[in-house]
Amino acid sequence: MSVSKFKFRQKCPVFGIYPNNLSESQLPTYQDVLLCYQFERFGIGRLRGDNYEPRSKEVTEIVAKKVENTFKKSSIPIVSHTRVVQMLTTYHKKFLTLKKMFLRNPIGLSSKRDDFVSSAGKLFDIAACKCIYFSSCTCPKERKVPINEQPFLLDQRTTRIGRIGSVDLPETKKITKKNERKEKLSKRHSTSTLTRKVSARTRDHSDQPDSHTDDNNVGASHIDSSKNDGDDEFSLPSSKTKQNTLVLQHTALAAHRFGVSDGAATLIVSSAFLDAKKAGLITEDQASFVTDKCKISRAKKSVGVKLQNTESIDSVYGLYFDGRKDNTLTQVSEGEKYYRDTVKEEHISLIAEPGCHYFGHVTSPSGSAEDETQAIWQHLQDNSVDVEHLEVVGADGTNTNTGWKGGIIRKLEEIIGRPLQ
Ligand SMILES: [Zn+2]
Repeated sequence: MSVSKFKFRQKCPVFGIYPNNLSESQLPTYQDVLLCYQFERFGIGRLRGDNYEPRSKEVTEIVAKKVENTFKKSSIPIVSHTRVVQMLTTYHKKFLTLKKMFLRNPIGLSSKRDDFVSSAGKLFDIAACKCIYFSSCTCPKERKVPINEQPFLLDQRTTRIGRIGSVDLPETKKITKKNERKEKLSKRHSTSTLTRKVSARTRDHSDQPDSHTDDNNVGASHIDSSKNDGDDEFSLPSSKTKQNTLVLQHTALAAHRFGVSDGAATLIVSSAFLDAKKAGLITEDQASFVTDKCKISRAKKSVGVKLQNTESIDSVYGLYFDGRKDNTLTQVSEGEKYYRDTVKEEHISLIAEPGCHYFGHVTSPSGSAEDETQAIWQHLQDNSVDVEHLEVVGADGTNTNTGWKGGIIRKLEEIIGRPLQ
């Protein structure tokens, strides 16, 4: 008859200590975690009967939860549950291998055992933020260690003198209130399109693996508690406006320039942000700058309006122009009816220097130098541009432009009454 292997609590042969549950007052070390594993294995085995060997997966799950809870108790954001289980499994396997070898050859492996034991005194660190110096921590907000927990975690990672105090009541209240406020806000906005994005993000946060708990508050509290108490009231609104402040002026200009559609521009911009996030150039938070079609279209419009407005230049030193024959849609009247018709029209774009300002474009009824000059001159007059300082006129080398007698440049010189470069 076999004797139940769970009848007597045995010292761990490697550590020489009895299995024990996790301490309530400290974050667990590797040794603590292993002893807790043995403790749980023993407990399950005793319950199930003589020769039942608990599956390691089952024990690991329990221990992982316990370890996670000690961190959560001190409001330290942690890595995902899967990662914790993975860390535990790996480390336990390593332990089993050593144990097996050590039991076979206790003398030969004593130094190896000593190494293992001494390194097992380190914190089983599942904190989401691994930064050594919290002052230079650039982790995303939800991974950051709350300021008032930083000294404790630092202590637990090094000297391990500190203890978890009793639950800080006022602090807990504050956190709960914050979360309520947050929830209300996201509910209130969940109807409008713009804010739907925000709440989706808030949901993302709570879906994050660190909040795998029965206690919903914990996950969110990480996000909040790292903030200054002073800006409580503004914490959410600011995070909301943050995404809207991104001015896509250059993007819009580029899109205009190459005739890229709003949808295409949106996709490209968003992809660029994703890549930047992947490369670690921007944080999770900033990555939510991903934009939508409407935003690009708005930006394009506003850039267009801006361009039109700013180009009322008073004095021009240089004037460059280039013509192009375009198919233009016009309305042709025939009696009482109007028809749409495409007409070949000469379009001339004007660029003003200095600053390379787009200065407007004019159309002339024909491609003749006479008409074009007239059109350009008219445009200068219409915009009451001071040609007093006009020194330079530039264009490509078409005869229409540069002809020494009948070119546009020559004709402009005649109108202004002095030679131009
Ligand atoms: Zn960090």
